[in-house]
Amino acid sequence: MPLEQALQRLLEAAAAEPIQACETVSLADGAGRVLAAGLQATSDLPPWPNSAMDGYALATQGWAGQALPISQRVFAGTAPGPLQPGTCARIFTGAPVPDGADCVEMQENVTLLADGRVQFDQPLTPGQNIRPQGQETRLGETVLPAGTRLGPIELGLAATLGHGQLRVRRRPKVAVLSTGDELVEPGQALGPGQIYNSNRRLLISWLQRLGCEVIDVGILADDLALTRQCLEACQQVDLILSTGGVSVGEADFLGQALREGGELSLWKLAIKPGKPLTFGRYLQVPVLGLPGNPASTLVTFALLARPYLLRRLGCQQVAPLRLAVAAGFDWPVAGSRREFLRARLEGDRAVIYPNQSSGVLRSAAWAQGLVEVPEGTTLRVGDSVRFIPLSELLG
Ligand code: AMP
Ligand code: MG
Repeated sequence: MPLEQALQRLLEAAAAEPIQACETVSLADGAGRVLAAGLQATSDLPPWPNSAMDGYALATQGWAGQALPISQRVFAGTAPGPLQPGTCARIFTGAPVPDGADCVEMQENVTLLADGRVQFDQPLTPGQNIRPQGQETRLGETVLPAGTRLGPIELGLAATLGHGQLRVRRRPKVAVLSTGDELVEPGQALGPGQIYNSNRRLLISWLQRLGCEVIDVGILADDLALTRQCLEACQQVDLILSTGGVSVGEADFLGQALREGGELSLWKLAIKPGKPLTFGRYLQVPVLGLPGNPASTLVTFALLARPYLLRRLGCQQVAPLRLAVAAGFDWPVAGSRREFLRARLEGDRAVIYPNQSSGVLRSAAWAQGLVEVPEGTTLRVGDSVRFIPLSELLG
């Protein structure tokens, strides 16, 4: 199945089952959350005309170029009186422009005369160096739509708008389980045939960055009865996310349990890494079974599970940025599946980790992004390729 088709099905399923519950959080706790309602401007921005410079405010109407006495000083955070006719006001950046003034001249372009008057050395234009009221935003305008994920910039903007509280979607509850009899947790000694469980830590920390509440189920043995029991115990979550045990091998207990206890779609994705993917439902709860190989887990989580979760929160913007860059490598043999290569940018060229098959998380830790090589494609150095920054996927 092509990636787009799998993604489309997942996004449709996500849109049909949104996490609708909301809560109110303080602005300080808004990071990583998703807006449940649009954020409106509670005033014009700027709320009044203000000076863009340290200088002198005056009225150009009826002014013939003569030097003007200073009638008031206007600092940021003060409310000036109207400008007295035939005078100018000393004014500082961000301070409200007095009524009657239509122009600010920067202090570098004036000469202070011995009698205290200000002589303007350059021609003046009405409106210059004044930021008009409502220039950025009008009262009532929706500045951030519902479904926006809140990062530092959005939180800064919400603060600009004066919102101390935000209405956000409830955090998705995701149960994470790692299947495999061979798995052992880090910190313990490895027995024969055992490996450390890397997916658990990878997924849990990633989900937390995405604003999810994680229910850490730990390791699930390759056993049908235990698999059923585990799925039944996870009925209070929004998603069960598992890794491993989804190849159609003999230890495919997740698929078996879903086949009996709910719905099952098994997809052979035309991507590399990351071929087998399970999507289904056990009793009430959607289940996403990612392949167990950590590189496959990484890629399928980034390209499928992440957008699925974001769409359940009502995010419209779920597709990662794909930058056009030049290949810094040759790709002489076309593949039958789309490849996602761990890559770095050197200048404007993407170079790939020398060994794409092994040391999988090591190559991803080295990488800054994934280069997408379409199926049936060969590449020469300098050809255009798509680069998906990992920073984009991880946040
Ligand atoms: P499976 O889909 O269960 O056949 O797993 C595919 C490969 O990924 C096997 O080599 C597993 O040992 C490995 N694998 C599965 N789960 C994990 C995990 N949580 N951490 C590290 N490797 C894993
Ligand atoms: Mg397994």
